[in-house]
Amino acid sequence: MGYYNYNLTVDKLLDYGATVYPNREIVYKDRRRYTFSLFRERVESLSSSLEKIGVKPGDKVAVVDWDTDVYMSAYYAVPSIGAVLHTVNVRYPPEVMLKTVLHAEDKWVIIRDEFVPLLEKGKNFLNGIKGVITYSDEKEKVKTSFPTYDFWELQESGEKLPPHEIKEDMQATVFYTSGTTGDPKGVWFTHRDLVLHSMSVALTTSKPPLRSSQDDTFMILVPMFHVHQWGFPYVTMLVGSNYVLPGRYDPAMEIELMRKEHVTFSAMVPTILFMILSHPNAMKYSDVFKGWKVMIGGAALPTGLAYSARKMGINIAVGYGMSETAPVLTVAYYNSLVEGLSEDEKFVQQIKTGIPIPLAQVRVVDENGRDVPRDEKTVGEIVARSPWLTRSYYKDPERTERLWKDSWLHTGDLAVVDKYGYIRIVDRDKDAIKSGGEFIPSLILEDVISTHPKVGEIAIVGVKDEKWGERPVAFIVPKGEVKEDEIREFLMKKVEEGKLQKWWIPDKFVFVKELPRTSTNKIDKKILRSMA
Ligand code: ADP
Repeated sequence: MGYYNYNLTVDKLLDYGATVYPNREIVYKDRRRYTFSLFRERVESLSSSLEKIGVKPGDKVAVVDWDTDVYMSAYYAVPSIGAVLHTVNVRYPPEVMLKTVLHAEDKWVIIRDEFVPLLEKGKNFLNGIKGVITYSDEKEKVKTSFPTYDFWELQESGEKLPPHEIKEDMQATVFYTSGTTGDPKGVWFTHRDLVLHSMSVALTTSKPPLRSSQDDTFMILVPMFHVHQWGFPYVTMLVGSNYVLPGRYDPAMEIELMRKEHVTFSAMVPTILFMILSHPNAMKYSDVFKGWKVMIGGAALPTGLAYSARKMGINIAVGYGMSETAPVLTVAYYNSLVEGLSEDEKFVQQIKTGIPIPLAQVRVVDENGRDVPRDEKTVGEIVARSPWLTRSYYKDPERTERLWKDSWLHTGDLAVVDKYGYIRIVDRDKDAIKSGGEFIPSLILEDVISTHPKVGEIAIVGVKDEKWGERPVAFIVPKGEVKEDEIREFLMKKVEEGKLQKWWIPDKFVFVKELPRTSTNKIDKKILRSMA
């Protein structure tokens, strides 16, 4: 007895939200709503029931679902009993998805009815699974060939076992990277990682320009399987904002939810913003976008898209991170050096990659580990330290050693730094194009092309070239009729303005209806390279 050794565990986040903001709401489409206080009760029932059916500390519990209240309950209930939440990427090809369940050694699965047939395909080799917890929106019972439990019975049981003492260094989550540049890799995080990450993200997003607050309603359009939905299911409890969950993504439904639930804050990859803003209903209900606060991350925000969003009254800031970093490392909020700049100048800073969030140390270094000068020209690699970085790739010591070379986490992202200390990513090392021995920063090039009024989406990849080694090819989704010559002329003007080098201009422009996507809706450059 005496001094209480307080552990930083995720149940404390929910406890705070439900105590201070008991009547804030979690909303799943037009189907279910919970106040934070009811949600805490349901999470407690679920935790207790999971223990009762045999879930033990350290057991991996997979969730296979779209973005729902069921998923959100699991975000809290599973780690709260010391078990490990595996957020399964449902947009992987089925075999890859099942391989991750096998690789993570999942013992339990919480699954939405429509995904059950997929799981059954793995019946012959998923021998470690002890039980499957199924649910349907209609609350019908869903059987499987594994021992099956009904989610609603567990979540509404009213069970209350004495709470567990969970240690902050216990593993809370595991998931696999989306594999934009290679095979999926497993990463994992502890309770302490998640709590400190949430505190830091909540603090940063409450600062200008985003200024999130308890008056906001969040709808995060990053899948819940993708890096803890960037931490927002935890952050919302600290902020005290309402939380809207859209299920499976569909732009028309998202716009409808924005109207009905008065959504004011979102986060997403650029492609999703592009899809929403180019939907016919975006024009019809343009009012919903006025004052909408949006954090864009996961891929570079094209300047063209950023300015269209600004015109519609959207308040945008970029965030940056990766699966290995839980994910957030930087956000493009204002530091004291840019506060006094004009609105236009500040906007330019808001759409760069950003500055470190509290407790993150983020540097751009040359090959010898020295910081590059703040000249916006010298390219280096982003390396990081913070309390929430994955300690290792799951069962992969070799890649772990490369990731943690010199005790800094190496991101493989290439960037420059401006005079105010803002980082800007210019490429990913695996996507970088080398032409005639010189480096073409594909993200800068894409960005300049994105400002042409008839360019919707754009991606540049390198193709082998006998003379130069590699040359860039541009894939463009046009807005209306556009000719290659128009774009070339436009780019020549940009060369005159000093925004581009002439030899960066792509040799070939390919006009397409849409660009291939990865499972997290990023543009898939692996496929584009094979197309080129
Ligand atoms: P994957 O590696 O499969 O794409 P991640 O979600 O982990 O999965 O991707 C992280 C990568 O996404 C980063 O290393 C970086 O290259 C890119 N990225 C993330 N945020 C940004 C951003 N704001 N600007 C440019 N690139 C970004």
